[in-house]
Amino acid sequence: MPTLSSDDAFAEVKSKIDLVKVVQEHVRLTKRNKDYWGLCPFHQEDSPSFHVNPQRQSWYCFGCERKGDVFTFVELIEKTDKRGALMLLAERAGVELKQLSPDQKERADGRKRVLAMLKLAAQYYEYVLWKSPAGEPGRRLLESRRVGEETASRFQLGYAPAGRGFAEYLRAKKRSLVDAQEAGLMRRDGTDFFAERLVIPIRDERGQVLAFTARTVRQDEQKKYINSPETPAYIKGRVVFGLDLARDEIARRGHAVVMEGQFDVITAHQFAVSNAIACSGTALTEEQVRLLKRFTDELLLVFDSDRAGREASRKAAVLAAQHGMRTRVLAVPGAKDPDEFLRSAGPDAAARWEEIVAKAPSGFEAGMEEDSVGLNPSNPNQVERVGARLREWIRQFPATLREGYAETAERHTGISRHMLLEDPEARPPRVAQNGGPAPRKPARKLTASGYLLQLLAVRPGAFDRVRTKLTAEELDADDRPVYIRMLDSYERGGPTGLEADLAGYPAEEQDLIRRAWAAPPPNVDDEVAVELAERIRLEHMKGMQNGIIRELSEAERGRDSERVAQLEAQARELGRAITDMERRS
Ligand SMILES: [Zn+2]
Repeated sequence: MPTLSSDDAFAEVKSKIDLVKVVQEHVRLTKRNKDYWGLCPFHQEDSPSFHVNPQRQSWYCFGCERKGDVFTFVELIEKTDKRGALMLLAERAGVELKQLSPDQKERADGRKRVLAMLKLAAQYYEYVLWKSPAGEPGRRLLESRRVGEETASRFQLGYAPAGRGFAEYLRAKKRSLVDAQEAGLMRRDGTDFFAERLVIPIRDERGQVLAFTARTVRQDEQKKYINSPETPAYIKGRVVFGLDLARDEIARRGHAVVMEGQFDVITAHQFAVSNAIACSGTALTEEQVRLLKRFTDELLLVFDSDRAGREASRKAAVLAAQHGMRTRVLAVPGAKDPDEFLRSAGPDAAARWEEIVAKAPSGFEAGMEEDSVGLNPSNPNQVERVGARLREWIRQFPATLREGYAETAERHTGISRHMLLEDPEARPPRVAQNGGPAPRKPARKLTASGYLLQLLAVRPGAFDRVRTKLTAEELDADDRPVYIRMLDSYERGGPTGLEADLAGYPAEEQDLIRRAWAAPPPNVDDEVAVELAERIRLEHMKGMQNGIIRELSEAERGRDSERVAQLEAQARELGRAITDMERRS
């Protein structure tokens, strides 16, 4: 097997990628001094303990103690391995990886071909919709839905005509029909998978077409909507429909409107609710929540008011809470879905929308109201039943929220919060989905030698002054190996040698260094380094002196006069050196 990825590839990709930018796609970072802080994407927390050091291109979480460089970050966030992270980042940096395994190369190429084919198909469908007589049924459908041309083109809507139009188009362009099949666009017989349907591209948050969903224009068709199958470019539940168009407005308004269907979203945008997105399917997935969390902390859930829709709302509220997000649940009065609501409101749609948004209860409250509807507080049986339902509802949320929720429920129902919080079966609390933060290691007492290591991690240039004053043996035994490794990196790679080599260091040494990068010691300059080196040397010499004195008394007891004389000479010499050093400092 060929080498998959030489160190060169890692180094080249790393030099072209900014860790801060990569992290920012997943975490909202706030700049403090030169560094960035945010909520850790790898454990649940309310206050930021995730730290990014842009100079070192290193990150460290003080909560869960995960850490690493840009590759480690991508590995964890994309749930891939080191090679996977390299491939993703290389693609982004425009670095050609020559040494992929044939298998990986094939996969990467396959994905690229599928993406190119999807892009081409979207262009073809859009052309047919507007420029070809065959697009007439699609145009009529849009008209009946009152979707204007401007909105349609923002969503790049298109129409797939009956028959083999797309195959012919590909033949004319001398493109491979196999790729089109691979992309889920064409059946084996060459007929278009989406024939006689209005096609809606499903794009990622950067606007790249990954799949299609398509609505039939025929009255007699049983399946109203069909979707692309999963392909090398499309994994269901990972994409959020409309996010590429809604992301700025989501940031501006501070919340995302989550709808069930793509058409709801298109109508919403048409009526100025342009922070609307769809989860494409009834349930919001964990990956979608993570993706959305990059853009906002609050989701406004607008699901159907039927049983399935209410269930979906509840699940989404709990899932969002587990990721530290707030939810509100919006009911559209007098309409079966938001599409109908907005269309019937017509020109007043935006204002009517604001009205109902302002009244939307939180995700917890919506479920609570549902669970306690029609409760008669003087009927003990009812109180018991509602209490049990509410208890179960509260228990689904993270522990930090439960007390507040029980209080809210008590105010609403009159059922005591203690009853709502108590656990009748005394089951252990459920473990949160990501597991809590890892237990903290007890902090090591900071010795002079430990301080020096931290300082050198942050300021490797200080080695120039330190290495002439100190040998590795003079350091605490635990600190020697990492000191030697760091010195070696510095001597070979200069001030950036440490960053370049760090990934190859043992885990506990990486931990020490990245931690120092995230929280540097109070004073970092060459003078402090020299002082520390001298103190370490002094302490080491005193330790040696003590050893010699112990040995001396043993030699005296054993009447070994030769040994005694030798040790006395050593002790004298050391004593002089120590006095010397103490006088100087
Ligand atoms: Zn963390």
